[in-house]
Amino acid sequence: MIKQIAISSSQIKLLAEHSKKNSPNESCAILFGKTENNITTIKDIFFAKNIEESPVNFTISNDELISAYSQAEKKNLDVSGIFHSHPVSEPYPSSTDKKYMEVNDVPWVIFSNIEDKFMAYIYNSGIVQIPLKVS
Ligand SMILES: [Zn+2]
Repeated sequence: MIKQIAISSSQIKLLAEHSKKNSPNESCAILFGKTENNITTIKDIFFAKNIEESPVNFTISNDELISAYSQAEKKNLDVSGIFHSHPVSEPYPSSTDKKYMEVNDVPWVIFSNIEDKFMAYIYNSGIVQIPLKVS
């Protein structure tokens, strides 16, 4: 089971900028990385478009998902996480997020624009918060 997610401060900065640029709508991205010793390290970010253009939900198109998986494979990385932002709420999973987290059991990273804060979660017979280590 994944116990921690590691990300660089420059990646954190890019994700925060992506969220601010897309506000008031939610922004999303697919995180590429590698998992070793239960630690997922993020190596690259695939910035995606929220086709719902909604402040409370996000959806990544199938075309973008396919292209993300093929890019990850080319880079010899795994699809290791899902990122999205909450422009007007805290960085906790919504009921919709929880539903999708159950079927996408990679780490989920949520950024709250109002709190300027990142949190990470994973589904493991329930939603658990995992530490997000920024270096
Ligand atoms: Zn959400």
